Amino acid sequence: MKAEAMNLLQWQKRFGTGEACAEALKQQRWANGFQCPQCGHDHGHWIAGRKVYQCGRCHRQTPVTAGTLFHSSNVALVQWFLAIYLMVCDKGWLSALRLSRQVDRP
Ligand SMILES: [Zn+2]
Repeated sequence: MKAEAMNLLQWQKRFGTGEACAEALKQQRWANGFQCPQCGHDHGHWIAGRKVYQCGRCHRQTPVTAGTLFHSSNVALVQWFLAIYLMVCDKGWLSALRLSRQVDRP
């Protein structure tokens, strides 16, 4: 993802909805395919409306944000994405990643 090549309007157009943000997170998180955290099964289906992946075996629903800094936050995904965009423009992706790791650890 080349944030530098995208201006704010384009970014908003692409990540302006919670669904679009969840979709992007999903692709990032399960880039090598879904794996169920409960039973390890590697097949499931994405429920876009609820932003969860449902395991094909045990039917556990895993939110795309589970285990990330986005999960326990009251801030909407759209707002997070905007904050990340602004930070990326300012400091670059590495800072954004570093921040997410720091915020993630209690
Ligand atoms: Zn499962």
